[in-house]
Amino acid sequence: MKKILFVAILLNLLPLYGQQIIDTVQTDKGPMIIYSNRTWAFLKDKSFNGVLNSRVHSILNQDLGLNFTQTWSNDVCFTSGKHNDMSKLNDTLWLCVLDEAHATYRAPVDGIVTSRYGYRHGRHHSGIDLDLETGDTVRSCWAGKVRYAKYNDGGFGNLVIVRHYNGLETLYAHLSKLIVAPDQEVKAGDVLGLGGNTGRSYGSHLHFEVRFYDAAINPEEVIDFDKKMCKDENLFVHKGLFRPGAKPSVLEAEEPDPVIEKDTVERQIDVAAHVVQTSLKKYYKVKSGDTLTEIADRNQTTVSKICQLNGIRPTSTLQIGRSLRVK
Ligand SMILES: [Zn+2]
Repeated sequence: MKKILFVAILLNLLPLYGQQIIDTVQTDKGPMIIYSNRTWAFLKDKSFNGVLNSRVHSILNQDLGLNFTQTWSNDVCFTSGKHNDMSKLNDTLWLCVLDEAHATYRAPVDGIVTSRYGYRHGRHHSGIDLDLETGDTVRSCWAGKVRYAKYNDGGFGNLVIVRHYNGLETLYAHLSKLIVAPDQEVKAGDVLGLGGNTGRSYGSHLHFEVRFYDAAINPEEVIDFDKKMCKDENLFVHKGLFRPGAKPSVLEAEEPDPVIEKDTVERQIDVAAHVVQTSLKKYYKVKSGDTLTEIADRNQTTVSKICQLNGIRPTSTLQIGRSLRVK
């Protein structure tokens, strides 16, 4: 009898670190479970697949057929392995960095940029370093869900990774203290932890990264760290962004002419993000029956210029739906 009781108690205590769940409370950061020793954790939604921006995910997978993955893990920095190959991104994806539901950006720290993205001392720096004093608050840039919050022995020290509703992930490294827990929902400006010098770090600073489907981009492509604001409410995602050492594109004030046919534009608005032109480059989506000469004429350019921009020959077969750079 005693043995059965013992087993029953043991099973009851098993759910987490030998603690019994005594309550579940709704918080504005998600459902939280309270254990008998007064510790707590955020409740995991078993059906959650990690996709916070289903529109972007569906465009990448259904429309563009890229088969990119975005899983959820509290234990690894990269969730897709080597699966998401940005060199296959032949289109430009229009990502709303700030949308109506999540329109706020907050600077991660107050400090200035001390080291930029790109090559330094022969190594690629896949983020940006921001100055801080140990103990300074580090905040989430945008709203999202904490994917990772623990010590990382790969060099990041105490590390927080937040996956955002806009489709990006941000990474905050070398923290002295973690304040959030994995699976916690955060708003823009919520404190994630305190700045520090943990891991492979020489002097207190925040190493900050911006990633799209596990691939790092230059944070200055999205954020103006001097003005402490987003550069633009939109980010045009194309494979050039993921080139190691890529410099941020220069946004021009003038509005370029629309290049996409009206019916296509309507369809694109329908799915919220899609193939568009960037400010400096112009793209055209090939339709059935198009010839290079017609495309060149329509965009006031020449066949040889289009060939040069896209690395194709005048005799190349045009794949319907492919985006051709025309400027
Ligand atoms: Zn760094």
